[in-house]
Amino acid sequence: MTNTQPSTDCSAEEWALRVDLAAAFRLAVHFDWHESIANHFSAAVSDDGKTFLLNPKWKHFSTIKASELLCLHADDEEAMSRPDAPDPSAWCIHGAIHAAVPHARVLLHCHPPHATALSGLTDPSIKPIDQNTARFHNRLAIDLNFGGIADDAEEGKRIASTLGNHSIMMMGNHGVSVMGETVAEAFEHLYYLERAAKTMILAYSTGQPLNIMDDELAEKTALGWEQYSDSAFAHFEQLKEILDRSDSSYRE
Ligand SMILES: [Zn+2]
Repeated sequence: MTNTQPSTDCSAEEWALRVDLAAAFRLAVHFDWHESIANHFSAAVSDDGKTFLLNPKWKHFSTIKASELLCLHADDEEAMSRPDAPDPSAWCIHGAIHAAVPHARVLLHCHPPHATALSGLTDPSIKPIDQNTARFHNRLAIDLNFGGIADDAEEGKRIASTLGNHSIMMMGNHGVSVMGETVAEAFEHLYYLERAAKTMILAYSTGQPLNIMDDELAEKTALGWEQYSDSAFAHFEQLKEILDRSDSSYRE
């Protein structure tokens, strides 16, 4: 299916980004990672990351369309006083992270059930016990400084510094944030993070000790995943096809 761009003043490149980001919201519903009308996905439009797309406040993920995504600027002091003002926590945190982390072109934040359960454990790390869990070996930032529901740019800066050069963050007592150069890449991180967290929760639930790979095998497995980085795009295209079969209105 082609992206039929309506007569808007955005570039073809921005429209394609809008369609992919809208698809990510619909797919989060498909995989049951959504929660009420909360949580936020964003994508940088400008080179400095300060202009970015974000979901409108209090819209269910299942209804989001490409044309409805907000386009915001992190330094716009009027953004919060307009009728279409975004959720304040999303505006502060996503704006600060896009500006501070050059590789965070796309930022997906949500509370998927298994990853969130893992985030509530004393040790929310993912141990290399199978292929999917080993994907995250030494590639996961862990933030254990949850300070309540945040709505200031300082929280965004703190999260950005904890992230370092990682793209995936387990947020203790909270949920997850994943980043990527593209929506497909960030979505793939989120997909495998929730899969790996599910495996961890199931393995812990047996009460038996985990058979954790040694560092060398875990690193070899993680490097093996990096050879398949193109599969993120193929997977995302397939997922959009699945969406199109039932409801392609995210493309509008
Ligand atoms: Zn959250």
